[in-house]
Amino acid sequence: MSKRLYGVDLGGTTVKMGLFDTEGNVLTKWEIPTVKDQGGKQILPDIAEAIKKNMAENNIAKEDVIGVGIGVPGPVDKDGVIYKAANLGWGVFSVRNTLSDLLDGIKVEAGNDANVAALGEMWKGGGKGHKNMVAVTLGTGVGGGIIIDGKILTGAHGAGGEIGHMHVRDGETRTCGCGNHGCFEQYASATGLANMAKEHFAGFKGNTCLKADDLTAKAVFDGVKAGDDLCKEIAAEYGEYLGKGLAVITSTIDPEALVIGGGVSKAGQILIDCLKPAFIENVFADCRDCDIKLATLGNDAGTYGAAKLVL
Ligand code: ZN
Repeated sequence: MSKRLYGVDLGGTTVKMGLFDTEGNVLTKWEIPTVKDQGGKQILPDIAEAIKKNMAENNIAKEDVIGVGIGVPGPVDKDGVIYKAANLGWGVFSVRNTLSDLLDGIKVEAGNDANVAALGEMWKGGGKGHKNMVAVTLGTGVGGGIIIDGKILTGAHGAGGEIGHMHVRDGETRTCGCGNHGCFEQYASATGLANMAKEHFAGFKGNTCLKADDLTAKAVFDGVKAGDDLCKEIAAEYGEYLGKGLAVITSTIDPEALVIGGGVSKAGQILIDCLKPAFIENVFADCRDCDIKLATLGNDAGTYGAAKLVL
């Protein structure tokens, strides 16, 4: 029988799972709930059981499984040790060894979920064909993953690629989720964009399609597409922060591509158009050819990347 891989994307409410062949084709995908009771001690046993059940259903022998990759929501070091996942109630332990033991010795590799999703986009998504890329997720916060020579930049503390917490503005009074002030994600996330929309909306006297009770990223970009002046003003400010931040990262890493995903990226090409001027203006000239692309795997990036971890 041909060899198989499993990719697992562990989230706060569900665990997404996929069975893959070695070419990266997904053969089956499914989800199980994340049971967080009692310090999350049931999470890995549930995952192991789901994999064993899938193996039995598909007549997959242990020898045919190259491995199981898992992305987890917290900093994970090179040895598969997670440092904290407050969200799951977990302490410090080796996710890699624990899950491997539960799977009777099948090889397991673990990584941080955002980094693993970046690897997925490189393998089968918007970053396909690239070996040096940065994936940026613009959601409630800003996540990131840096891939160098086809490998995740894990960092010394498992926090490599945490681009959301680069300091980009002095004098910010609001506190970021990390405890600092003036972090990139305070402006470049969907939340940051909504805050900008609120500020601009409050002081605007002209006609606009925006409504006080719907100042979301989607409403702003829909307005830009419709030619709304206020929306264009908000998107320009947002694009300034996003473009500058991405220029800083690009000038440091010199990637072939930036791949942008997350809820805000649903706006499509218009998002890239709004960040491009500030990006080009601020990026180091030698890195200017970096391709800025949209992510294509959506919520599946994590399972693809997790499977790729074991190859
Ligand atoms: Zn922060």
